[in-house]
Amino acid sequence: MVQVRGLHKSFGRLEVLRGVDLDVPAGSVTVVLGPSGSGKSTLLRAINHLEKLDRGHVAIDGELIGYRRSGDRLYELKEREVLRQRTGIGFVFQNFNLFPHLTVLENLVEAPVSALRRPRAEARATALALLERVGLADKAAAYPRQLSGGQQQRVAIARALALEPKVLLFDEPTSALDPELVGEVLDVIKDLARSGTTMIVVTHEIGFAREVADTVVFMDGGVVVEQGPPAEVLDRPRHERTRAFLAKVL
Ligand code: ADP
Ligand code: MG
Repeated sequence: MVQVRGLHKSFGRLEVLRGVDLDVPAGSVTVVLGPSGSGKSTLLRAINHLEKLDRGHVAIDGELIGYRRSGDRLYELKEREVLRQRTGIGFVFQNFNLFPHLTVLENLVEAPVSALRRPRAEARATALALLERVGLADKAAAYPRQLSGGQQQRVAIARALALEPKVLLFDEPTSALDPELVGEVLDVIKDLARSGTTMIVVTHEIGFAREVADTVVFMDGGVVVEQGPPAEVLDRPRHERTRAFLAKVL
């Protein structure tokens, strides 16, 4: 479903991604681990074309993201085209990023109506079903500030799902939460995993990775150091850098 090939990205003289390859099959969960500054967020942003690439490409469901190919050259797509592609890529941020002036329900209805031209009544019905799914049907009329961080993040996940994305990207979805609220958000993500949603999750929650990931990817210094099933990467890491990282977070 997601194919990342030879990604390179620099900010000025800082080379943040130095040739990243990644394959995420449909219906699978990939957890990305790695120290702060290793390029995890930049990788997710590059998949979404929120960062332009210096080299390499990203394809989702066989479609190049951000570019079109003509002969052997790549041309950048117009912003409107990129926005269309982005509706197929759900993104859940560390800090929820809900629209503060909209109710919970309106947060879920807005994008399907404006980006996908869904009839408002249909978008509302879908939104209510999604709120039910994340256990927040009773909060439809509330404003984000009236919710706990865990509830806000569950709304953010429901909002991402409202666009029926082909893949969901999570960038440290529980890092901004008080410890007692982490579980309710991870439970929602686990439920999505069981129902076959294709996901890439950047997180430091090793227990979650062990339980839910099909593939664990360890990044350091802008490269994938190793990847494989959790039982290999977490329990029998082959690289010293992976061992050193796990020793710190476990
Ligand atoms: P991670 O998510 O693994 O902590 P990031 O992808 O956020 O790492 O960042 C990797 C490196 O790139 C860091 O050194 C960060 O400071 C730098 N960086 C990220 N975004 C920018 C930017 N827009 N401009 C300059 N440097 C950036
Ligand atoms: Mg990050």
